[in-house]
Amino acid sequence: MVQKIFQTNAELKDWLSEQNSAIIFIPTMGGLHPGHQYLIEKAKARKTKPNQIILVSIFINPLQFGKNEDFKKYPRNISKDAELAFNAGADAIWTPDYFEVFPGGENSHFKIQVPQTLNNQLCGAERPGHFDGVATVIIRLVKIIRPEKLILGEKDWQQLIIIRRLFQELSIPIKIESYSTQRDQSGFAYSSRNSYLSDSERLNAQSLPSAIKVAKTEFEKEKIINLKKIASILKENHLQIEYLKVVDPFSLKETENINGLCLLAAAVKCGSTRLIDHTFLMQRKPIIAIDGPAGAGKSTVTKAFAKRLGFIYLDTGAMYRAVTWLIISNSINPSDQAQIKNILKDSKLEFQSSNFVDQKILINNIDVTEKIRSPEVTSRVSEIAKQQFVRELLTKQQQVIGEGGGLVAEGRDIGTAVFPDADVKIFLTATPKERAKRRSIDLEKRGYEYSSIEDLEKEIEERDKQDSEREIAPLKKAHDAVELCTDGMNIEKVLEELTYIFRSKIPEEVWATPNL
Ligand code: C5P
Repeated sequence: MVQKIFQTNAELKDWLSEQNSAIIFIPTMGGLHPGHQYLIEKAKARKTKPNQIILVSIFINPLQFGKNEDFKKYPRNISKDAELAFNAGADAIWTPDYFEVFPGGENSHFKIQVPQTLNNQLCGAERPGHFDGVATVIIRLVKIIRPEKLILGEKDWQQLIIIRRLFQELSIPIKIESYSTQRDQSGFAYSSRNSYLSDSERLNAQSLPSAIKVAKTEFEKEKIINLKKIASILKENHLQIEYLKVVDPFSLKETENINGLCLLAAAVKCGSTRLIDHTFLMQRKPIIAIDGPAGAGKSTVTKAFAKRLGFIYLDTGAMYRAVTWLIISNSINPSDQAQIKNILKDSKLEFQSSNFVDQKILINNIDVTEKIRSPEVTSRVSEIAKQQFVRELLTKQQQVIGEGGGLVAEGRDIGTAVFPDADVKIFLTATPKERAKRRSIDLEKRGYEYSSIEDLEKEIEERDKQDSEREIAPLKKAHDAVELCTDGMNIEKVLEELTYIFRSKIPEEVWATPNL
């Protein structure tokens, strides 16, 4: 494809309509550096269809600069930027002027006001109107371009969070992918504004990433965050602190809860140059909870997803099934709680897994992997799973397995009761018809008979009813779970959606794995 530079919307649109392409859009203000290069390279590497084109825009948006900020001196060098963008894999560059983006001027257009809860935090508190300007221009740009995907850097984390929320609230069907902050060999984050720094300022500015790194190392060793120590390193190096905080990465509010993912973020002035940097702190690897009704396809995709991430796969349904099998094969009445307690208190339940595909489940050293899939176990399991002792016992075991994180667990109550602090929660559903169809295929594969798809549908609905109506840890969507209906999706498509949800909850700095 010939690499193109467009100035006007008309030229760009003519070309785009000739291409009939899906656009991967990387909006920038120019002053391109290796951080932008990384975004473009990632976009190129993740192209999934031949008709996708990577479009980089260069537009210095006046709306996001305060009165005394650096709008006038912001780096402008289109030919240098174009060279970097094209070398990194951009197909086209768009350099609209102000009136192309705001025909008739900005006052002829709707403006976005970012909610105060997000705007009053971090950089927003220091730069009134900045994020309103960012949000307003993004809406203008995507309205003109109509991209399929938007690529943003995680360096401007607050901006990313605001744009994600904006698209979500306005139901804008454009996927947003983000990539981590890029740094030079000394750890200094690339930024277009670094060009303002003199050599001596650059030396002082280096203490920003260094202090953050000291804090991260200390956190990893001792599980503490010593903001005073970071502040004194910054001050010793003549950096003036605008903010230095530990915040929840999504609400951006200050937090003292350092058990889950948190963001250590700072903004400083080095001379007259404003610099921001951050790191993510996490005590354990991520936990992903995948809940949902019977037959929604959880097992297949959870297993495959765990494999992709290199995480532990935990099938909690198999645990309830194994216990059910034990109770049935000892001819214990499923409602006899005393006997159930008696047999379970000395039982040993364990997973054996040489690889993700052949995970085995053993109860009292008996391999019950296949046995627990029988229609008899399936029809009795919900009755047993609702009992308090059974739930307490298995929940505790599941929590022990997930202690260190790095786990994808599937079940009914993972996001609500077992791991309410899970970092990613997904509620996987499908219509009863679709689920019955999938169950029939599974039964056929395992060599079991069934009377009809309609009966399977009824049985599934009955099991859902029992699971949802039980008193303890019923099947329900956690308030912070993302619901995904898998009707009509093949496994690859579901995995793509799971990956997207995962990446929108876990920054690349934390997850970086070659398989995603
Ligand atoms: O997912 P699967 O169909 O194997 O689950 C079997 C049964 O185990 C469910 O219908 C439910 O009664 C029970 N279960 C549960 N809590 C979980 C997982 C499964 O109650 N976390």
